[in-house]
Order: sequence, then structure tokens, then C-alpha cells
Amino acid sequence: MARAALRGRLSARLEWRVAKLAGVHHETATARTLQLDVPGWPGHVPGQHVDVRLTDEDGYSTQRSYSLAAPADSDRVELTVQRVKDGEVSEYLTDTFSVGDPLELRGPVGGWFVWHPSRTGPVLLVAGGSGIVPLMAMVRARRQARSRAPFRLIHSVRSPSDQFYASELRRVARDDGGLDVATLYTRSAPTGVPRPPRRVGAADLEQYGWPPQFEPTCYVCGPTGFVEKVANTLVGLGHDPRRIRTERFGPTGG
Ligand SMILES: Cc1cc2nc3c(=O)[nH]c(=O)nc-3n(C[C@H](O)[C@H](O)[C@H](O)COP(=O)(O)OP(=O)(O)OC[C@H]3O[C@@H](n4cnc5c(N)ncnc54)[C@H](O)[C@@H]3O)c2cc1C
Repeated sequence: MARAALRGRLSARLEWRVAKLAGVHHETATARTLQLDVPGWPGHVPGQHVDVRLTDEDGYSTQRSYSLAAPADSDRVELTVQRVKDGEVSEYLTDTFSVGDPLELRGPVGGWFVWHPSRTGPVLLVAGGSGIVPLMAMVRARRQARSRAPFRLIHSVRSPSDQFYASELRRVARDDGGLDVATLYTRSAPTGVPRPPRRVGAADLEQYGWPPQFEPTCYVCGPTGFVEKVANTLVGLGHDPRRIRTERFGPTGG
């Protein structure tokens, strides 16, 4: 009986579903959040992603992965897509895909890079650029569940205009003493910010993260080079590698 239920759940995840674009929110000049209606969506846990498949009139088909940006909300799912220069799928999703258009999608996918709102231990989230997407789903799920799990989020962005969810993050960090948010700039910082623009390093992870003795679960997400550097630095600072969970989105993106 349990095996049949498991088989049913697995086949629901592998099934391609037709989603419809219900709404769009512009996060930055090159990124937008897609609100999709997915009839029969089985629900998901923050940190999971979906596979998206596009097929043209000639039958050519291609697929990519996109993280779920918000906790489960019946048949509605949200993805935030960053346009990658000359990117086959991201350019279509950010420039052409319009309200009412269909899209094939399957999931949810992933069982390791997830945070369950029932967990109470400290959490360190470290995002590079669009790597904030699955981490934002965790921040939103924590708030929705009224969890008191202590969260610290470090978000590395090129410049202020590249930051997703900026006003929401400012608001939740202001209203919630259990969530600290540090935005670190790599190319240009707003006036008055004392830290010169540079890549995230050990000093930043020490200053804005948790000490290893607190035994936080660390979630690191972003371009491959960023994730590898941050994960290695956390290990160098004394964090237990078994408590570091990583998700790589692809190339370094320069
Ligand atoms: C588990 C997972 C979750 C993901 N979640 C998200 C998400 O929430 N939001 C999001 O925007 N992306 C996400 N991605 C990345 C996404 O799957 C695509 O790789 C990205 O949109 C580029 O696809 P494309 O077809 O536009 O580019 P392609 O046509 O595949 O590539 C075009 C060029 O861009 C380079 N490139 C490819 N991917 C990237 C990248 N990620 N960064 C920089 N350069 C790249 C390629 O090397 C190539 O030169 C995720 C990836 C994974 C594996």
C-alpha cells in the first residue's frame, strides 16, 4: 500500500503538466517573476525546483531547471528567471512569454537542498545573484509558518539594481528580529556603504554568518564558481561539510 502511494507520488512528479502564465512581476531590468497556474500541482518544499520544457512548431524541444521562488500555494507556482545573454530559454521566458501562454513543467524535483519549516536550528543562506531564488522560498516559508528558526541571509549582487526581492527583504528583515539580511556588492555599491565592492570572502562569512560552533545548516546557491568558493571557505572557517548544502545554477556568469 505504502509502495503504491510512493509510486503514485513519483509518477506525479515525472508527469509533464501544462502551466499557464497568470502574471508577471519585474524584479530587475533583466529578471522577472513568472506566476504560473499549474492544474493538479502536487505541492512542494522550499528549495525544490521544476523542469521547464519548451517545444517549437517544428517539434524541437529543450528543457531547463528553475527553482520555486515561493512556498506551495495550491495550483500557483512562482519562478524568477534571470535573462542570460544569448540564453535560449531565459531570453524567451523574460522577453517573449506572455500572460495566457502555456508552458510545460514537471516536478517538484530535489530532496536535499530543502528546508522544512518544522526545523528549529539556525540557518545560513548564501546566495550569488539569481541563486537567491530557492533561498527566498525558504525565507517566505519561514515567515508563513511563523517559524522562530534563526536565519541569516547573505546576498551577493553586482550592484543595487541587480538585487531581486529588494523591498520585500528590507521589510521582512526590519519586522523580524530572527532574520538578518546582508547585501554585499561585487561591482558597485550604493553611496555610504563602507565595504568596497568585492567578491564574498571569509571575512564576510564570519561577519554576517553564524559561527561554526552554532552548527547552522548552510545553504549556498548561485553560479558554479561562487558556490564552490563559498562552500570551501565555510569549510575553512570550521563549518562541518555535512551541514553545507549546495545548488549550482551553471557557469560563473563572468
Ligand atoms: C537546479 C537548478 C535551478 C535553477 N534555478 C534557476 C532560477 O531559479 N532562476 C534562473 O534564472 N536560473 C536558474 N537556473 C539556471 C537555468 O536552468 C538555466 O541554466 C539558465 O536560465 C540559462 O539557460 P538558457 O537556456 O537561457 O541559456 P543557454 O542557452 O543554456 O546558455 C547560453 C549561454 O549562457 C551560459 N549560461 C548558461 N546558464 C547560465 C547561468 N545559470 N548563469 C550564467 N551563464 C549561463 C552558457 O554557458 C552559454 O554561454 C537553475 C539551474 C539549476 C541546475
